[in-house]
Amino acid sequence: MNSINQLLNNMLAGGGAFNRRAFLENTGKGILATSIIGELASCASSDAQGLAGPVKSLADTISVKPPTQHAPSEQHQETGVTVLPHNKRIGYAIVGLGELALGQILPAFSASKYAKPVALVSGDAEKAKKVAAQYGIPEKNIYNYQNFDDIRSNPEIDSVYIVLPNAMHEEFVVRAAKAGKHVLCEKPMTTSSKSAQIMIDACKKAGKKLMVAYRIQYEPHNRMAMQWARSKHFGNVKVISSNNVQNIGNPAQWRLHKALSGGGSLPDIGLYNINTNRFLLGEEPHTVMATTHTTPNDIRFKEVEEAVMFQMLFPSGAIANNTCSYGAHNSKHYRCYADNGGWFGLDPAFDYAGLQIEASQAQGKIETKMQPLIPEKKQFALEMDHFAQCIIENKVPYTPGEEGLQDQKIMEAIYESAANNGKPVKLEMITTLDTFRGTPPKED
Ligand code: NDP
Repeated sequence: MNSINQLLNNMLAGGGAFNRRAFLENTGKGILATSIIGELASCASSDAQGLAGPVKSLADTISVKPPTQHAPSEQHQETGVTVLPHNKRIGYAIVGLGELALGQILPAFSASKYAKPVALVSGDAEKAKKVAAQYGIPEKNIYNYQNFDDIRSNPEIDSVYIVLPNAMHEEFVVRAAKAGKHVLCEKPMTTSSKSAQIMIDACKKAGKKLMVAYRIQYEPHNRMAMQWARSKHFGNVKVISSNNVQNIGNPAQWRLHKALSGGGSLPDIGLYNINTNRFLLGEEPHTVMATTHTTPNDIRFKEVEEAVMFQMLFPSGAIANNTCSYGAHNSKHYRCYADNGGWFGLDPAFDYAGLQIEASQAQGKIETKMQPLIPEKKQFALEMDHFAQCIIENKVPYTPGEEGLQDQKIMEAIYESAANNGKPVKLEMITTLDTFRGTPPKED
């Protein structure tokens, strides 16, 4: 296996060009990554949900590629794109026009290759009209929470994207499935494992696809870390250390009211620690231990916890130490410590942009650090495009409802442990890899 020094020398010998593809080729990890992804694909190529055939075709993509003006060392510059024509894209109805929908999801359609916004669902008709005008959505395609079921008779809508408070996810996923639409649902999937199972069953019964919007699993920096972990490039990952903290504001917001959120920092941001630990290793935890902490008399935390510290133990022997908190300044990072003289991780790891991957490897007395530069992608476009491709090609999405259900079970175990002074809580022992994941996203 190449050392980091060799990798850097190889890259410098290649003219200093350093992008993700060059890095994969230089390390030989392109081959490994391809074989890992090939294995994953073979596990998940059939659609377990028994769905109808594709209605649109990826063969309809159009490529426009001008001649490149750049030297080969500048190959990370994109010259032209291959996308589906507008009338062949998967049409999304966005449900709930709050901070995430307006700030991230709707703008991300500009970077999408296979999806388009065709409808809005909102309790605020005036806001919805303004947003519809911004995105060229006809007013006839604006719905509210009462007439939502009328989406059934709108053929422009292939899929809905649920961006509502957590406790509303179940109702709208079930109603969307009954209306004959595929569903992309924001994280956390819902507020309990029982509710998650109801959502999965409703989509199965309707013959519709369900995906949980775990954007990190589609994001290139995190995917590189996953490939390093799986290929054992730095050795076996023995310890993961992961923090996701932010200082929450307005005490009146739904996130601080248990009936709408289901919990505090754990389901909102600690979920990133849980889901990313599982994604990196491909394994499922068999034991969790947890403690919660809430600052006394802080008016924000009357109903939900401020912070959770939790450990997860995995079948390979890997240990994950995690902290999530609503009470400290924004910081979102993780590091994976391996047994062959190296570590790697991301800081920041879970933000919408500006992610940075770094690694370090010891060789004799010298420890070499590196920070590969990976071209940034719009995370919400990647996940919406993946779901669109799965709909078109009739595949199980990489993060289906079952992936969300597993996180709900783990969160329940974490709360159970915390309620019993950190007593270890056992989960089902699962020894297969990527047990709950479907078809891997197509790599660029
Ligand atoms: P907001 O509070 O900003 O928006 C939620 C929207 O839901 C509101 O604007 C409103 O839209 C609608 N809504 C309907 N009923 C209610 C109600 N009773 N209380 C409040 N809102 C209601 O939340 P976010 O956009 O931040 O979060 C929405 C979902 O997205 C959550 O599940 C959250 O966990 C998830 N999320 C995911 C992120 C990620 O990175 N993947 C990041 C942030 C959030 P309208 O006025 O149109 O009816």
